[in-house]
Amino acid sequence: MPINIAIDGPVGAGKSSISDSVAERLGILHLDTGAMYRAVGLALVRMGVDPSDEAAVSSRIGEVNVSVRYEDGKQHTYLGEEDVTGLIRTAEVSAAASSASRWPAVRRAMVAAQQRMAAETDMLIDGRDIGTVVLKDSPAKIYLTASAEERARRRYLQNLEAGDDTPYEKVLEALNARDYQDMHRETDPLRRAEDAVLVDTTELNYEESVEAILRIVEQAYGI
Ligand code: C5P
Repeated sequence: MPINIAIDGPVGAGKSSISDSVAERLGILHLDTGAMYRAVGLALVRMGVDPSDEAAVSSRIGEVNVSVRYEDGKQHTYLGEEDVTGLIRTAEVSAAASSASRWPAVRRAMVAAQQRMAAETDMLIDGRDIGTVVLKDSPAKIYLTASAEERARRRYLQNLEAGDDTPYEKVLEALNARDYQDMHRETDPLRRAEDAVLVDTTELNYEESVEAILRIVEQAYGI
């Protein structure tokens, strides 16, 4: 059985970067499932399909071919043969991903692809429904969070570094809207699995957060 670690949590909890470090320390791959939903969002924007229109999304999702490849251990996300890794972090794509990800047709396709990868390979997977759906049977589940204000502050600073000066209030508002949508959808909403360990990083720095997760993995897998 491969090693499968599940990390879930709201927007801006640091899942992606912390997961990268934890996976690297363990010498296993990290699958960022948010990137797959973002690729779906980008595809819909390009096709001119309204992501909030379930019928339209469901009838066109078969044309959207999302896959993930690893180059030097780093995830690259593809639409067909196009590497879209650098195109999926915009506000427009974030909103489209969050909107489209509520539809069962989209979730079924993504969950199946994620489970196929996890069945073959040691992986740390992060997302919203990993502990509750994708890796339901994993012995190592973490729910990573921090206060909304702290998450928005971190996202705001990241944006500034990337040359995006969206005001803090706007960042907080978009983050809360996306969390609300993710937690209140009917299919596979974001929630903490009963057997997930809560890691609140509001008062932890990056290295402390990584160490906290490594300890949970060690308890579960003895590695
Ligand atoms: O994690 P990230 O913010 O990149 O995810 C983008 C969006 O994709 C989320 O807001 C959520 O709606 C969706 N998502 C999901 N299930 C996952 C991962 C992401 O619904 N496992």
